[in-house]
Amino acid sequence: MPLAASVLIDGPSELVFDYAIPDHLKILPGCRVRIPLRNREATGTVLRVQEVAQTEFDLRYLTSLVDPEPLITPALLKLAEWITSYYGTPLEQVIRSIIPASIRGEKTSAKIRKAAILAKTPTESDLAQLAKRAKRQHQIITLLSIAAKPIPITELGGASTSSSIKTLTEKGWVKVINLEVRRDPDANETFLPTDPLTLNEEQGEAYKTISKSLHSENPKPILLHGITGSGKTEVYLQATRTALKLGKNVIILVPEISLAPQTVQRFKARFHDLTDQIAILHSNLSQGERFDEWHRIRAGKARIVIGARSAIFAPVKDPGLIIVDEEHEPAYKQENPPKYHARDLAVVRCNLEKCTVVLGSATPSLETFQNTQLKKYQMVKMNERADGASLPLTRVVDMRIEAKKHKGRDAIISDILRSSVEKRIEANEQVIIFLNRRGFARSLQCPPCGHVIECNHCAIPLTYHRGDERLVCHVCGFQSIVPRLCPNCQDPAIRFQGYGTEKAETILRKVFPSAKIARLDTDTTRRKNTLRDTLRDFRAKKINILLGTQMIAKGLDFPNVTLVGVLNADLSLYAPDFRAGERTFQLLTQVAGRSGRGKMAGEVIIQTSTPHSPSIQFARHHDFDGFVAQELNIRQQFQYPPFTHLALLLARSSHERRAEFTLQTLHRKLAEDLPDNVILGDPIPSPLTKSHSQFRFQLLMRGPNARVLSHHLNKILRATPTPEDVIVTADLDAYDLG
Ligand code: ADP
Ligand code: ZN
Repeated sequence: MPLAASVLIDGPSELVFDYAIPDHLKILPGCRVRIPLRNREATGTVLRVQEVAQTEFDLRYLTSLVDPEPLITPALLKLAEWITSYYGTPLEQVIRSIIPASIRGEKTSAKIRKAAILAKTPTESDLAQLAKRAKRQHQIITLLSIAAKPIPITELGGASTSSSIKTLTEKGWVKVINLEVRRDPDANETFLPTDPLTLNEEQGEAYKTISKSLHSENPKPILLHGITGSGKTEVYLQATRTALKLGKNVIILVPEISLAPQTVQRFKARFHDLTDQIAILHSNLSQGERFDEWHRIRAGKARIVIGARSAIFAPVKDPGLIIVDEEHEPAYKQENPPKYHARDLAVVRCNLEKCTVVLGSATPSLETFQNTQLKKYQMVKMNERADGASLPLTRVVDMRIEAKKHKGRDAIISDILRSSVEKRIEANEQVIIFLNRRGFARSLQCPPCGHVIECNHCAIPLTYHRGDERLVCHVCGFQSIVPRLCPNCQDPAIRFQGYGTEKAETILRKVFPSAKIARLDTDTTRRKNTLRDTLRDFRAKKINILLGTQMIAKGLDFPNVTLVGVLNADLSLYAPDFRAGERTFQLLTQVAGRSGRGKMAGEVIIQTSTPHSPSIQFARHHDFDGFVAQELNIRQQFQYPPFTHLALLLARSSHERRAEFTLQTLHRKLAEDLPDNVILGDPIPSPLTKSHSQFRFQLLMRGPNARVLSHHLNKILRATPTPEDVIVTADLDAYDLG
C-alpha cells in the first residue's frame, strides 16, 4: 500500500496535512520536509508515516527533504506530544523549542575549510631533493606527514603557502579537500586528567543503586539525597562511565552552565580519553557552536551531553542515564512558552526511553521528596562529607538586638560577623558573604521586633504596593491598608527596608579596609569572563572576601573558605510565595555548604530579624527531615504543591483597565463550570505590577490533577476572545508567582 506522511506545517496556525510520499524519498517521523501548501511551498515536520488505501489516494506529493535525516528522534517526538497534552502548549511551538533555530533554519551550516592532505608518501630521496630545491614545499610536506591528517591551509602558517600548495598539488604530492572543522566552545581550555576516587561506603551504595538501575529493563527514578560535599559529583562520574561501557549515552543537566564551570571541568578532566565525545549545550553558545554541538550529538559522535535545561531535548539516540544535578533549582523551570520544567521532563523522557534518571540534591524539592514517600521514586542518602570534613558550625545572629545597639543607622554587619571575618583573614583563610537581594515588591517588616505582616487566609506575607499604599496577598487577593504602627509592638518604625550587594560592598570596604574584596552578581558579571576570572582569583587566594548573590551560593568547592556570612536571611523568607520557606532553607543550606570543605573546620553566621523562623532553625541544624516534615504539613493544610498542582493565569497590557477587565472576564468564565476540587483564586495585581510598560494581573488555580487544570484553562482561553492589546498566558506548575 502507498505511504502518506502527516506533516505539521511550520507557523502559528498548527495545521496538520497528509501528503503522499514519492517512491524515491525515505521519510521517517521527525524528518523536516518541503511541501506544497495552496500555491506556495512550505516547510514542516513529519509527525507520522502511515499506509493509506489506494482509493483515498488523492493526496498531493511532498516535494523534498530539508535535511537528509530526521532532526528529532521518535522518543523526542513523543516527549513533544506529552508536553502538548500536559502543558497545553501547541505542538508546533514545542517542536520549535526542541529543534533550535540554528538547526532548523538554513542560515547556519557546518564550517568548511580548505585543507591539505598528503596524496602520496614521499621517499627519503624525494624529501632530500625537495629540501634542496624548495624549502617551503619541503616544510609543508614534512608537516603533513607528521600530522597524518588533513590540516586547514590557514593553519599551515608561514610565507607563500598558497603558491607552494598549488605547486605541490600540480605535482601530485598534495590534495586539497573540504574539511568540516568543529567550532569548539572550550577549544582554548586544557583539562588535567583525573582518576576515579575510591568510593566511600555511602557513595558505594549510591553507585550500586544507579548501576543496578542501568541494568534494569524498567528503571524507577532515583533521588540521590546527599549533603553538600558528600561527593555526589564523584558518583555521577562513575555512573556515567558505567553507562558508557554499556554502550549507552548520558545527559547531565545543571541549573545554569555559567554557574557550573567546576562540573564541566570535572567531567572533561575525568573523561580526558573521550573529550571529543563531550558536548556542551547552553544559551551562550554562538549559532555555529550550537550547530556543531547539536549535530555531533545527533550523529552519535558526542556521547556525554552537559547542559542547562534545554539540553533535556538533546537529540541523543539511546540515552541510558540522565542526571539532574541540584534538582531543586528553580532555574529548571522555563519561563517562556513552552513553560516546561526540565526536571519533570527528564523523568518523563526516562520513562519513554526506559532509561535511568538520577535527581541529585542536598536539599531536594518537596515535590521530589514526596514522590519518594509515595514510592514512585527510590531514594539513596549520603549523610557524610566525602573527604572526612564535618559540616560547619552555624550561628544565628539576631539583628533586632544589633539594631538597638547601633541606634540610628542600618546595622548591616553584626559585631560577631565582623570579628569572625577579621580572625579568618588574619589566619589567611577566606570568607564568602552572601546577600540575596530581590528586585521588587517586598514585605513589610518591623525592625525593632521583626514582625512581618501576613495574610489571614494564606500564611504568606502580604506584599507592599507602594503605588496605592496597600498590602495585598498574592495568593488569594486579600487586601489591607498599610498600618502606621506595628500590629505586634506598636512601634511606628515599621517600614519597608532593604539594601543590596552594592551597598553591602561599600560597607564591607569601610569595615575591612585592608581586605581584598570582590563582588559577584548580575551587575558585575555582564562582561563575559568576569565570573570565571573572579572565581579563579578567589581560588588562587588573591581575594579575601567574596561577596555575592545566589550566584555564589551553590556548587562551588573552595577548600580554603572557612567562614560564610549571610547578611539578611529574611529577604527570601518573606517573598510573597508559598515556597519562600523552602527556598530559604535550600539557600541557607547550600550557602552554608560552601564553608569548611577542606581540612579546616568551617563556620557559618546567619544574620536575621526572625531568628526563630523554622527555615532558619532547621537550616542551622542541618535538619532536612525536620524541615520537610513541618513544611509538608503546612502545604497539605493549605493545599499547596506537592499536594496540588497550580496554574497561574496572567493578563498584561499597557492599558491597565483592559488587562484587569480581561482577567476578570476569564475569572468569571472559569468559575462558571469549575471542575470539582479546583480552587480558583481571585484576580489580583501581580507582585510585579508593571513591567516593560505593561500592567499585570493574575490569578491562581489549584487542583489535584494538572491535566484537569490545563485542559479547563485552555478550553476557556480558546473560547474567550481577548482584546488585541492584552496578552494572556498560562503557566502550569508555576514557580514564579509573578
Ligand atoms: P557534592 O557534589 O556532593 O557537593 P563533591 O562531589 O563536590 O560533593 O565532593 C566534595 C569533595 O570531596 C570534593 O573535593 C571531592 O573531590 C571530594 N571527594 C569526593 N568523593 C571522594 C572520595 N571517595 N574520597 C575522597 N575525596 C572525595
Ligand atoms: Zn491570602
